[in-house]
Amino acid sequence: MATTGGWLGKLAGAAGEANKRAAAEKAERLAAPNILRPNEVSGEYDAGRVLMTTLGGEIRPLTADDLAAFRRNIQTTQKRLKGGITARKVLDLSWKDDRDRAQSQIRQAVPASASNGRVRFVTSAGPDSKVSRHHVTVEFMSYGAAVSAGTKTPLQAANWLRKQPLKFDCDCERHTFWFRYVSTIGGFNAGRAETGFPKIRNPRLTGVGCKHVLRVMAEVESAGTVALFLSKVITRARANDDGRATVRQTQKDAEAQLAANKRARNIMTTEDRQKASAAARDRRALARAVADAPTRPEKPTAASRRMAGSLNKAQLAMLSRMGLTESQIAAITAAGK
Ligand SMILES: [Zn+2]
Repeated sequence: MATTGGWLGKLAGAAGEANKRAAAEKAERLAAPNILRPNEVSGEYDAGRVLMTTLGGEIRPLTADDLAAFRRNIQTTQKRLKGGITARKVLDLSWKDDRDRAQSQIRQAVPASASNGRVRFVTSAGPDSKVSRHHVTVEFMSYGAAVSAGTKTPLQAANWLRKQPLKFDCDCERHTFWFRYVSTIGGFNAGRAETGFPKIRNPRLTGVGCKHVLRVMAEVESAGTVALFLSKVITRARANDDGRATVRQTQKDAEAQLAANKRARNIMTTEDRQKASAAARDRRALARAVADAPTRPEKPTAASRRMAGSLNKAQLAMLSRMGLTESQIAAITAAGK
């Protein structure tokens, strides 16, 4: 337990705890009085109900115009989410705030058990949370294909499977009040379906994953723990004629994985990844150019001044901060041509 700071708790109790939380949340939802139901969104709304919305910024009673706006938001969202969602797409469509919180607050995520393609993850909780861990369920939709197609080894099949469309659910309030409706209408909800439009919390229906889901998706995206776990499930399923398998992670294995997985996972969108690899390419090119540049300072020639002129002021300032002479800068500029 010392390796996880105590948040992981007993894995054997994880599924029971998740089910208990889901049941309590469902009871609370069924008793909630101010739900805007689908038939009301489509027009059968009794203005006497005086439900509120935050569409446009401030909280106020909702109008027929709002209902029309909600219907448009549903259409736009369904179009945006057409064809399901992958781990990469969850990260790409998320709010930056949620990615930042996932990065700075949710240190770890680990698979606890799998029933066929449905995998329960446990994540640590944020600093202000009432609980010490959260439960995220991910359903890998192409599980059956990964098991049956004998063209790949279990590990290859697992690495393919984790990049395919999936469904997900989280037990936190952010998922419940902001995103469960979005995942339900997008067709990738792996928990209780949400029929109530989020008129107060998320009337524009933007974003898609809470910080726990994003942390889990970053884990799914990176080869490692998740691929190994899925390959175990696939191996067992291939040994059964019905292609089914249940796998439970032992406490010891989970703690060993968490201890080996101490480095913070980068929560990145596709754009972040492209920027990071472009920056790395630039750094390598610059290092090569510096290595190739003449080491002895030379007098700037008219030609070197002309070449240096093709850099902008900020680039020139950066290079001179790095201690390069004008002729070295010219050599870099020429090397980049
Ligand atoms: Zn969550």
